Amino acid sequence: MALCSPAPAARRRGAGEPGEGGTPLINAPKLATAIGVTSVWVKDEGLNPTGSFKARGMSAAVTRAKAHNVPGLVVPTAGNAGAALAAYAAAAGMKARVYAPETTPRGILATIRTLGAELCTLPGHIGDSGKAARAFAAEHGWFDVSTLREPYRIEGKKTLGYEIAEQLGFELPDVIVYPTGGGTGLIGMWKAFAEMQEMYWTQATTLPRMITAQSTGCAPIVRAFAAGKDRAEPWQDPKTIAAGLRVPGPLGDRLILRALRESNGDAGAVDDLTISLATAELSHATGIDASPEGGCALAVCKMLVKEGRIANSARVVIFNTGSGAGYRD
Ligand SMILES: *Cc1c(COP(=O)(O)O)cnc(C)c1O
Repeated sequence: MALCSPAPAARRRGAGEPGEGGTPLINAPKLATAIGVTSVWVKDEGLNPTGSFKARGMSAAVTRAKAHNVPGLVVPTAGNAGAALAAYAAAAGMKARVYAPETTPRGILATIRTLGAELCTLPGHIGDSGKAARAFAAEHGWFDVSTLREPYRIEGKKTLGYEIAEQLGFELPDVIVYPTGGGTGLIGMWKAFAEMQEMYWTQATTLPRMITAQSTGCAPIVRAFAAGKDRAEPWQDPKTIAAGLRVPGPLGDRLILRALRESNGDAGAVDDLTISLATAELSHATGIDASPEGGCALAVCKMLVKEGRIANSARVVIFNTGSGAGYRD
């Protein structure tokens, strides 16, 4: 079988570029022992510009929107997408307006303001912010870069899949545990793996099991997966300290659930106390400044191993999707 040439070496940060991606995949033997699996790597997305993996998608989305000469960019956010938009809009010399719940972590709101985006904080959750963002976009002709309402954020997130493959020598892990809100990271990685397999960039015959981690305070995907549904009902009164997971009605529900099923994956939720303990454990075991979303991924991984839903022989990648810094007052 002929092998096409694999992806270029993980991008190093060049002069004059914001430098999204190319984050470390950290081997964490202490966590592997604590969880009871063969190996654990943590993909530390907190090291991206503005401290989350949202940089990957926003970089692509803002680049494409600029090419279309849109007058301004608008996004509803649980926090990090707004910070990433503010950064890339500033870099591109474009106007940006961000709608966020008033409960968004203060450090993240401060980043959005500091980077010069217009910031509107509103009562309610990201769905309520989304309505206000769409109304503004319709009235002023600005472009809406909400999750899955334009195609390029997903394309940018495919780099998560490429990097994991490359960092593991083009052998994919058995399991990927991903803290899921709107689902772009999970959907993007799954698309990347499927395309890589088609192009013979990997000789893996089975792709990784994709596993969704959520908080029991907002777990629409976990509930729908357990019930065997292909759509997720909106979660009433969503509450969690893992702000990025406070997405009660993800637009991409069908795509997330399809990726979980196609990959023979799984989905689990843990409560917020368990999330905060696991966030500290993740940080102490690795030196990573973990976000609560990363803690959620670790805690769900532990739970699923204990319940026999992840094999002890598994080689696991856990996502720390953001930096803990933005969550401190
Ligand atoms: C947005 C976000 C998530 C959820 O990501 P999706 O790919 O939209 O599911 C998880 N963690 C953090 C830190 C986030 O900012």
